[in-house]
Amino acid sequence: MNRVESQSPAVESIPATLARLRSSFATGKTRSLEYRQQQLASIQRLLDECEHEMFRVLQEDLGRSELETSTIEISLIARELAFTRKRFRVWAEPERVRTPFLAQPGGSAIYREPLGVVLIIGTWNYPLQLVLVPLVGAIAAGNCAVIKPSELAPATSSFLARTLPRYLDNECVTVVEGGPSESTVLLAERFDHIFYTGRPGVGRVVMEAAAKHLTPVTLELGGKSPCIVDRTADLKVSADRIIWGKFLNAGQTCLAPDYLLVHEAVEGELLTRMVATIRDFYGEDPRTSPDFARIVNVHHYHRLMRLIESGGKIVVGGDGNEKDRYISPTILTNVPEDAPIMMEEIFGPILPVLPVKNVEEAVAFVNRGEKPLALYLFTDDARLRTQVLQTTTSGGVSVNYTCAHAGMLNLPFGGVGNSGMGAYHGRASFETFSHHKSVFLKTWWPDFRTVYPPLTRIKERIIRRFL
Ligand code: NAD
Repeated sequence: MNRVESQSPAVESIPATLARLRSSFATGKTRSLEYRQQQLASIQRLLDECEHEMFRVLQEDLGRSELETSTIEISLIARELAFTRKRFRVWAEPERVRTPFLAQPGGSAIYREPLGVVLIIGTWNYPLQLVLVPLVGAIAAGNCAVIKPSELAPATSSFLARTLPRYLDNECVTVVEGGPSESTVLLAERFDHIFYTGRPGVGRVVMEAAAKHLTPVTLELGGKSPCIVDRTADLKVSADRIIWGKFLNAGQTCLAPDYLLVHEAVEGELLTRMVATIRDFYGEDPRTSPDFARIVNVHHYHRLMRLIESGGKIVVGGDGNEKDRYISPTILTNVPEDAPIMMEEIFGPILPVLPVKNVEEAVAFVNRGEKPLALYLFTDDARLRTQVLQTTTSGGVSVNYTCAHAGMLNLPFGGVGNSGMGAYHGRASFETFSHHKSVFLKTWWPDFRTVYPPLTRIKERIIRRFL
């Protein structure tokens, strides 16, 4: 579709909306710590007062149960808010750093200042938290923000567009709804930072658009996150933790374990235990379980069903219902390394299991692919743990758990290489949305003349020694 034809009224008003945000930022009101605190408190009020509405839209978009929305969307935003509200004043204070001898008497400090107007583009799999968590950081750091939620979670997108203006200062935060064409119009504008969550292909489009204005970007992307299970692992606990992380949100989680590399000596037992865990968690018929979500749309439903059919032996699951966008929790074995399911990020409830002879083989397998967003290792062997940590690269790692490192607010969350650049969560969000301004303050007296011309050998020796 021609972009001009598809422009909605919201798109036409983007330049004017941005001009409004820019002039608000220029007034300096978002720099006030009181103002930031009040805006963050309003987000908390939104979470408290609109909980049922959030349950409803997430049910509509992803077939999520209230409990799941509560635990994997709302509570994560609330935790981020509480953590940030308590600390951001300290983070915003100038950070004194050492000044070299020859520059004394004088002082050096790093000032965190807001960047300006930032753009946050979200995706559909966690459509609330993936825009509201970065928004917390953007506001705490004193910025104005434009949010572009994913059109593939339309009920949530519309909820944000309706509700955020009731709670936040409309002169400083705004929601633009729409899909790629609206994003394209937004990306043509000049922002002070772009925070994008989505797939690597679109990440490239975002970075290219940002380059035109030399706008810095944070890219929170995806990829195939491996999970390695060593023969020393506690297989019962491993099975529970792998199944939990894999089938959460029906596998539509950026850092879900994508595939399993399991020591061949324990493959059979792990498979048996994982099948039992699926039954424990979701019952005999996972379709009736309130804890098992649906595939976001028919396009992805067919993509995933094709992946199931494209190779491997079904150990459990494999069935689906298009009308309901349901795909049962599926485990595959005998999957060739070059099968289509091993070539793309699965992003659905299918877990291929590949046996390996030893950890070296697993590490070599992982290192043949792109740098993943997450890596999981289940082992009781400390030496092997160090070996895997030192010989692989990934955005983050959970050892003997899945997904958990992303919930630790003292740990930055982000990818590396093909899985992204930059990071957020907790203080990392504040830093991402701040400019680090270096400030050197010098006294008038004494005014050492060592660096001034004419330079001499003695001056040169002093500078080399003391600066
Ligand atoms: P998506 O289709 O919702 O796209 C994300 C955003 O990009 C949307 O707002 C969409 O409107 C916009 N967009 C799409 N095409 C565009 C284009 N050509 N130009 C400009 N904007 C465009 O989501 P998706 O990309 O299918 O999301 C799934 C991917 O996101 C997976 O790879 C997953 O791993 C990744 N992801 C990463 C994280 C993370 O934190 N690292 C979190 C969630 C999802």
